[in-house]
Amino acid sequence: PLDPRTLDPDDLAHSAWYYTPIARGRPSWVGPYMPQYAGDVWYCSYLVPIYSAGALIGVMGMDIPVETLAAPVSSTRVYDTGFASLFDAEGNTIYHPLLETGASVDLLDLTLDSALLQQADSGSEVIRYVANGERRQMSFSTMSNGMKVVVTAPVREINASWLRLANVIVFGSAAIIIIYLLLITLVMHYVTQPLLRLTAASRRLAAADYDVVLDYNGLDEVGELTVSFRQMRDKLKHYIDDLNRRIDTDELTGLPNMRCFFRLAEAERERLLAEGKHPVFLYFDVIGMKYYNRQYGFEAGDRLLCSMAHVLAEQYGTQRLCRFSEDHFAAVVDDAELAESIPAVFRGCKDLSGGNSLPIRVGIYPDETERVSVSVACDRAKYACDKNRGSYVSASYRFDSAMLKQIEDVQYIINHLDQALAEHWITVYYQPIIRAVNGRVCDEEALSRWIDPTRGFLSPGDFIPILERAHLIYKLDLYVLEEILKKMKQHSEHGLQVVPHSLNISRADFDSCDIVAEICRRVDAAGIARDRLTVEITESTVGSDFSFIKEQVQRLQALGFRVWMDDFGSGYSSLDMLQDIHFDLLKFDMRFMHRFGETESNKIILTELVRMAIALGIETVCEGVETKEQVDFLREVGCTKLQGFYYCKPIPFGTILKRYRDGTRIGFENPHESDYLSTIGRANLFALAILSDSPSGEHHDYYDTLPVGIMEVSAD
Ligand code: C2E
Ligand code: MG
Ligand code: MG
Repeated sequence: PLDPRTLDPDDLAHSAWYYTPIARGRPSWVGPYMPQYAGDVWYCSYLVPIYSAGALIGVMGMDIPVETLAAPVSSTRVYDTGFASLFDAEGNTIYHPLLETGASVDLLDLTLDSALLQQADSGSEVIRYVANGERRQMSFSTMSNGMKVVVTAPVREINASWLRLANVIVFGSAAIIIIYLLLITLVMHYVTQPLLRLTAASRRLAAADYDVVLDYNGLDEVGELTVSFRQMRDKLKHYIDDLNRRIDTDELTGLPNMRCFFRLAEAERERLLAEGKHPVFLYFDVIGMKYYNRQYGFEAGDRLLCSMAHVLAEQYGTQRLCRFSEDHFAAVVDDAELAESIPAVFRGCKDLSGGNSLPIRVGIYPDETERVSVSVACDRAKYACDKNRGSYVSASYRFDSAMLKQIEDVQYIINHLDQALAEHWITVYYQPIIRAVNGRVCDEEALSRWIDPTRGFLSPGDFIPILERAHLIYKLDLYVLEEILKKMKQHSEHGLQVVPHSLNISRADFDSCDIVAEICRRVDAAGIARDRLTVEITESTVGSDFSFIKEQVQRLQALGFRVWMDDFGSGYSSLDMLQDIHFDLLKFDMRFMHRFGETESNKIILTELVRMAIALGIETVCEGVETKEQVDFLREVGCTKLQGFYYCKPIPFGTILKRYRDGTRIGFENPHESDYLSTIGRANLFALAILSDSPSGEHHDYYDTLPVGIMEVSAD
C-alpha cells in the first residue's frame, strides 16, 4: 500500500524504480540499489510502465538480487585468474570481484582512458592496459539493457596458452624428426647396410685386397650380388696369385727371376751380416751359349740351362739364387762357402749334356768392398766376370779395387761431361794433315782433350768410349764442331788460309740425334762453306749398320760435306764397303805405320790399297806417320796426304798461332790449288805394269820397276 506519488522524485535512490520507466516511457533497468525492504542486499529492478488508453496507470516491476543477476558473470573464469564483470549503464558496479556492488569503476587503478568504456563495445580489438601494475587485456560489450559485460585477463596468462601451443609444435616436430631418423637408421641397417658393406668390399677389391670378407647371406638382390662378388674375388685372387708366382719365377728354370732375386738377396744379405758372415754376390755366365744354340738348337740350349739351374740350386737352394737373364745366373752366399761350392758347380756343370756342356765364368762381388744395392752388386759381379771374356775355361774372378776405380772413372766422366763442356775443361787440339807433293798443310783434324782440374790430362781413349757407350758422345761432337767453326773464323781474322777441318763422329751420334742435320745447321749458321768441313767416320761405325750409314754418308755428301773413312784397314769388311759407298778419302789405320817395314808384304798391301783407291777416284791419307822413311815411301806410292808426329802432334789453336809468329809453322797450302794438287798427287810413281821378270818371286822384286817422274808445266 504505497502510493508512489508520495515518493520524492529527487530522491532517486528510493524513487528511481518508479520515475525512471515513466520518464523513459519504456521498460527500464534500475539499480543496483538497496531497497528499503531488503536491508543490506543489493537489487536491480526491471520496470515496465503500464498505460491504459494512453494514460499511465502504473508501473510493474521485478526486483532481482544482484547476486542472482551476477551469477553467470561471477562464475565465469577466464584463463587462470581472469574474470568477467558487469556494470550498469552509468558505470556502477553490478559485479566485480574487486569492487563493492554500486562502486564506481573509477575506483580501479587503470591506465585506461575511461572514455573508452563509454563506447558501446571494445570492437574487434582487445584493449591493452595495466591494472595494479599488471599487464592485462580486456574486451567489453553493452547489452540491450545498457549493462556492460567486461572480460579481462592478465597478458601473461593469455600468452601462456600460445607458449603452450608453441611448445607443443616445437616438441612435436622434434619428436617427429627423431622418429624419422630412427626410421631411417632402421631402414639403413636392414636395407642399405649390406649394400654399403658390399660397396666398401668392392673398393677394397679394386685396391687389390683379395682377402676382403664378403659374408652377407641375405636372400635378396644384395645377397645375390654378394655371392657374385665372392666368386669374382676368389677368381681374381687365384689369377693374381698365379700372376705373382709367374712374375717372380723364371719360366724356363723355375728359379726366382731377377726381380724376385733383388728382394730375396736383400734379406739374405741382412741375414748373413747378422750372423757375422761375409756376403758375396755371384754372377754366372755360361761361355759359348750362342754357339751351343747354333750347333744343337734352342731346345737343347734350354735343356742345358735347366740342368745348370739344377746344379746351382743343389749348391745354393732356390731362395738366394736366380736366373738373371739369358744364360746368366746370380746368387748371394757366404764367402766361406765359395771354396767348396764353386768347384762343385764347375764339376756338376761339366758332366751335363753328355759331356758336351759348356764352361762357366763366375764374377764375385764381396759386399764389404762397398755396400751397394743388390742390383749394383750384381752389376759389379758381372763386371768382374766380363773383364775376363777372353778366357774359355771355367773360372771365377773377384771384383777388386782396380775395377772399382774403373767404374768410378766411368761414372766421373758421365757425371762431369756437362760441366767439362761448360767450363772448357774439354778443349780441341788440331793435327795438321800434310799434302805429300808440296809438304804443306792441306787439312786439319780436330781431336778433343779433357784437361780435368782434379784428374789432369785425359786423352780421347779415356773418355770417348765411355761417352759412346753412354750415348752422350753427340754432346761432345757438336761442341767440337762449334769450336772448329769458331777457329775457322779466327783463321780469317789472323790472315791465315782456311783449309778443310775434320770432325770425328761416332756411331752413337746417329742414335742420339739427326747428327747430319745438326752439323749442317751449325755450319750454315756460322756462314762457313760446307766443303770446309770434313766428317770422319770410322770403318767400325760403317760396319755397324751398313745400309743406314751408307744413307747418312750420301746425305752428308749431297749436302756438300766431304766424308772420309777413318781407320781404314782396322777391321775386316773394309774392301766390301767400298763397293757400295763412295768415300772422298780413305784414311789408313795407324797400324800400317806401326808395322811399317816389319814385313815386305806390309808395303805391298799399302801400295796396292793406294793404287786401288786411285783407281776408284778416292784420295788417301796415312795416319801415324813418324819417320822420314815412311814419308818417302808413302809419297812414292801415291798416298796423297800424310798425318803424324813426323810433321806435328795435335796442338791447341794458341800453339798454331804462336808457331806462325815464331816462323816454325809448316804453312798452309793455297786452297785454290788443292784440286790440282789432289790430282797430281794421285799418280803412282811405281809403274807396276813394268815389273822386272826376276825369277825368284821374292817380294823385294816387287818394287824392281822402272823409275817414273812427274813434270809440271807452268803457264808458259
Ligand atoms: P783418330 O781419328 O784415328 O785420330 C788419330 C789418332 O792418332 C789421334 O789420337 C792422334 O793423336 C793420334 N796420332 C796422330 N799422329 C800420330 C803418330 O804419328 N803416332 C801416334 N802414335 N799417334 C798419332 P787421339 O787424339 O788420342 O784420338 C784417338 C781417337 O779418338 C781418334 O782416332 C778418334 O777416333 C777419337 N776421337 C778423338 N777426338 C774425338 C772427338 O772429338 N769425337 C769423336 N767422336 N772421336 C774422337
Ligand atoms: Mg780421325
Ligand atoms: Mg784414325
